[in-house]
Amino acid sequence: MKITDKINALEPNKPFYSFEYFPPKTDEGLSNLYDRLRRMSLLDPLFVSFTWGTGGSTVDRTLEMCVIAQGLYGLETCMHLTCTNIAKGVLEDALTEAKNAGIQNILALRGDPPRGQEYWTSSDDEFTHAIDLVRYIRKKYGEWFCIGVAGYPEGHPDSNDKEQDLIHLKEKVDAGANFIISQLFYNIDSFVEWEKKCRKIGITVPIIPCVMPIQGYNSFRRITNLCKVDVPVDIINDLEPIQHDDQAVKEYGVSLATSIISELQKHHNVLGFHLCTLNLEKSVRLILEKLKFVKTEEERDDLQLMSRRRSVTN
Ligand code: FAD
Repeated sequence: MKITDKINALEPNKPFYSFEYFPPKTDEGLSNLYDRLRRMSLLDPLFVSFTWGTGGSTVDRTLEMCVIAQGLYGLETCMHLTCTNIAKGVLEDALTEAKNAGIQNILALRGDPPRGQEYWTSSDDEFTHAIDLVRYIRKKYGEWFCIGVAGYPEGHPDSNDKEQDLIHLKEKVDAGANFIISQLFYNIDSFVEWEKKCRKIGITVPIIPCVMPIQGYNSFRRITNLCKVDVPVDIINDLEPIQHDDQAVKEYGVSLATSIISELQKHHNVLGFHLCTLNLEKSVRLILEKLKFVKTEEERDDLQLMSRRRSVTN
């Protein structure tokens, strides 16, 4: 089913969330991730998404994970797909395989340069920007796919012109994109202001903010530097004293992500959240429990006990 149809079918004001995973490098990692995916499917995400390695470096694994999530675990699946540094035939095969597996959601991206290369290249004149992939999918597959695109609340890292980025985002939507997933952010104002600007220039499709729970101090600094994402000074000040205590960093990450989602939900009418899981389960589960989006283990046990008692008395 299309993500937008699922959103439209929700009760008014019902919050929703989705999980993003990346393909693990080893078979053991993949098998662990499948176990996690099965458990996390019980958290009832609206959809799950799987990243696509730059230049198609994870084609087989991304496709396999998408097919298993959709077919075996019954999870609505969104496959990320990048269109640069890659042969057109690989794109065609991936889209056809996704369609044959009943996958109806694609996050259409340009892609970053592969590891070790400084610049991305268009391997085919047809694909220079994500919009070319959006147009291609629409032309070749009509309305079969629900297409998502990326948006950048703080501007794309390669661009100095946020207004121009917004115009290009609107062009992607006008070309046929149905929803937007944002780049991760830690400055709530950046997201809120950017979303307002999107609406002002006439973007009406759902905009789903990406929230990444901090899992470790070094990885957090590396990812935020790479994505050129603003980290408010309060967060740095909170993290620096605990940076060598992994457990404390994770707990901080849970409470920060919970407060970002809660603030967006309560004060800015945002209903959907895309959680960048980094393939980890615990933080995501705790965040959803704290937000009361899912029941805690204790609450689930209580409910089971009550229903067992009821069946005994009946
Ligand atoms: P585009 O929309 O093409 O934009 C890139 C830049 O080009 C922007 O500055 C834009 O303003 C500019 N631009 C767009 N159109 C034009 C035009 N017609 N003329 C001139 N300039 C233009 N990467 C992966 O490799 N695999 C993934 O799975 C993946 N998942 C992602 C998920 C999310 C939610 C996000 C936010 C990013 C993801 N990325 C992924 C990273 C993404 O590939 C990079 O950020 C890439 O540099 C840009 O991709 P894009 O689709 O935003 O490109």
